[in-house]
Amino acid sequence: MPELPEVETIVRGLARAVVGQTIDAAEVRLARIAVAPPNLSFARAIAGERIVGVRRRGKYAILELGSGRSLVTSLRMTGRLVVADAGRPEWPATHVVLHLRDGGRLRFSDVRTFGRMRLVGAGEAWDRELGIEPLSSGFTPEAFIGMLSGRTTPVKALLLDQRRIAGIGNIYACEALWEARIRPSLPSGRLTKPAMLRLRRTIIDVLQRAIEMRGTSIDDYVDADGLQGGFQNSLSVYGRDGRPCVRCGTSRIVRTVLAARGTWWCRRCQR
Ligand SMILES: [Zn+2]
Repeated sequence: MPELPEVETIVRGLARAVVGQTIDAAEVRLARIAVAPPNLSFARAIAGERIVGVRRRGKYAILELGSGRSLVTSLRMTGRLVVADAGRPEWPATHVVLHLRDGGRLRFSDVRTFGRMRLVGAGEAWDRELGIEPLSSGFTPEAFIGMLSGRTTPVKALLLDQRRIAGIGNIYACEALWEARIRPSLPSGRLTKPAMLRLRRTIIDVLQRAIEMRGTSIDDYVDADGLQGGFQNSLSVYGRDGRPCVRCGTSRIVRTVLAARGTWWCRRCQR
């Protein structure tokens, strides 16, 4: 499931490939994927729009359009957003194809069909439920301490809550907690202040390193050119149950379930 580093990598690739391009036509093959404001046809509304910018918010990739509208894409479990020449083969389950004026195609594919491409109006506050960006200047030590203090929510569940911090998913929550030596089930408010500061630092570090390696390709994630990322070779705990911890070497990584999600951690390092 693409998280912040994967979506950031896709967005950077799209910025190179599609900014300045005009969308001549949109081909919608599965209607529920392409969502438009009431009384508008997605395909008709988007035809002729120019792409003036590309950005990321949380796990969403956003194409900013000349009219002031935005095309907000969520990839959810298995979505892919790839630019290619018209002649290149499509990924399986390609549901929306944007025809670009230079002959290129921006294709959205999604085997599980949970992803969406949503056309939102100018000024529409579609992201007001999303929390702070962990790589922004707003993610200060004070903000993070304030978020955790007094809460009984397990710290891992809090990291996954998009209304508090936007963009962290299961992979990077597990990795950051392991690096900070914090037990995933610990109630957030029970972390010491040094542990909170350490965790904030490791969240930033692990996200930045993953972006440098262009994301983690374990399941379906590919970048905007259809290429895999490289961070799956640098994971310390995620998906490594039964293998020795790479830090202490004496304990094996365990997988438990927390907030209905698989959680990988080291019983020795993360007490
Ligand atoms: Zn360990």
